[in-house]
This record gives sequence, structure tokens and C-alpha cells, in this order.
Amino acid sequence: MLEDAGGGNFAVRARTSWYPSVNAFNDRATFDLTFKIPDKFVLVGVGKLVKEGKEGDFAVSHWVSDIPLAVAGFNYGLFKKKEIADPQTKYQIEGYATSELPSYMRGAASIGGMSPARLTESAMVDAQNSIRIFNHWFGEAPYGRIAITQQPQLNFGQSWPTLVYLPIIAFFDSTQRWQMFGMQRGLTDFVQEVTPHEVAHQWWGHIVGWTSYHDQWISEGFSDFSASLFLQYAQGGKIDRYQKFWESQRQAILEKNVFGIRHNDAGPIWMGLRLNSARTPAHIVASPTTRDLTFCTCCDG
Ligand SMILES: [Zn+2]
Repeated sequence: MLEDAGGGNFAVRARTSWYPSVNAFNDRATFDLTFKIPDKFVLVGVGKLVKEGKEGDFAVSHWVSDIPLAVAGFNYGLFKKKEIADPQTKYQIEGYATSELPSYMRGAASIGGMSPARLTESAMVDAQNSIRIFNHWFGEAPYGRIAITQQPQLNFGQSWPTLVYLPIIAFFDSTQRWQMFGMQRGLTDFVQEVTPHEVAHQWWGHIVGWTSYHDQWISEGFSDFSASLFLQYAQGGKIDRYQKFWESQRQAILEKNVFGIRHNDAGPIWMGLRLNSARTPAHIVASPTTRDLTFCTCCDG
């Protein structure tokens, strides 16, 4: 369930099957969760934190959801927490990031200021603006809180109700990304899009679910549309960034990837996860910056 990635970073695995669930995403329920962990670490749950305290060397936290959730989960690490209350949306926005890099990135520690927690506020502001824009366009989200949390995995994000897992790369600035990975335009686009895309799943996937896997792509489509709105507003309402986003999406669907395969040739998008087959395995068909693990279907959501 938890894999120690070093430096106080833990990869949370088995995110849909760590608790008894008949069918995550199609088995909505309210949750009453109590966690007991070594007290130097921080656990971030779904729902609302109603109580926390200490029992010996352990930290105990109690999380309750009064709205039925499609899936429950948590993130965990040696996190520093920041929070802001947005008076406009009445949302509480929390940010959680570690001070140190996971072991596999230690070589990069020499690049100045590589503490992920340094850029927590930037991700929180993106989340705050996303909620304002999406509330206006789609109706108010009911959850009242969202936690933007860091995960050591690099190239995808994930969104649980009230809890977003952002790839650690979203906590690096453009200079740091350039020093670590070189000049990659796709990577910059991914980092700019991943926070609004994941926040948008609070609406598309959680408030509004899907009847079967055939429809899962619709949640991805609306989340991408939401991210493109965010990009437009983030640039003062100019349409350029919106159009550029959709042009690059069109290219991603129609052009061959590094394996010589066009995403469009994988099969009908409504086949969803079943397109992950021997003929078109997901790791070859997916683009290098697949945004979501669970939420993604055949191509880059
Ligand atoms: Zn997605």
C-alpha cells in the first residue's frame, strides 16, 4: 500500500482497493475513517478532518464525509501543510509537500532550492483559481475543501474527492525542470495543465460520475475542457492559450508517437480501459505525460 521513496516521500499504491469496496466509482458511500500513524508523519484524508490528537508516539486523525463519495483515500508523508480560506468560494484550500526529494531524485539536490514545499503556494493558487472558474461555469462544488498533495510519482496526477495527488514535478519551477529534464515543451504544458485538470475532476468524475467504463472518457474530455478554460483565464481571458491547448490535443491524437503509433488508431475511445490490450498496450499508446492513472482511457485524457 505504501512504498517508502525516501526523504519523507511515500508512494501510495492500491488507491481503489485498500479498503473493502464492491466497485470503486460505482459504489458511492459516506465514510468515517480513523487513521493512526507514527506522529512525525502527516496523513491527508478525504472528507473533513473532525478530530486529531496524539496517542503515545502516534498521531490519530478522524475524517468524515457527509456527502457520498465515489472513492475514498489518503496521502501520506513528511509533509509541511499550508492552507488558505477563499472567501469567494468559501473553500478551504490546503497544500501538502515534503521538504526533501525522494531518493531517486537525489542527484538533483544540488540544483538550488529543490525543496518541493517551496512551490506549494503556487499549486494552491492554481487550485483556488480553478475552483473559482469552475464554480462559475459548472455550479458550486459541494465539498468545501480541497487538499493539493504531492506524490513522488512523476508523470501523472489523480483526483479523489477533496484530495488531489499532484506529481512531484508540479512542485518544480521551469528552471529546475529544465536543469533536470532538458527543454521539453510537452513537460511544461503538462505541468501547467495538471492542476486545473485534476481539480476539474471534482466536478467530472466525482460530482458527476459515469454509468459504465464506456463513458469514462467523457470525464476526461470535460476535465480537459475545464483546464483549457483555466489556461484562457489565467492569461487574462485571451483565447490564444485555449486554442493552443486544443491544437496540441489534436496533434496528440492524430500524430504518431515515439513508438510509431497514432492514438487515434488504438480503437474507439468508448472501449475505454479495454483498449489496454496486447495489440495496443497502454504504456506504448499513452503519451509520455498521461495525466491520470485511473481516469485515463486509451490516450492522454
Ligand atoms: Zn483526468
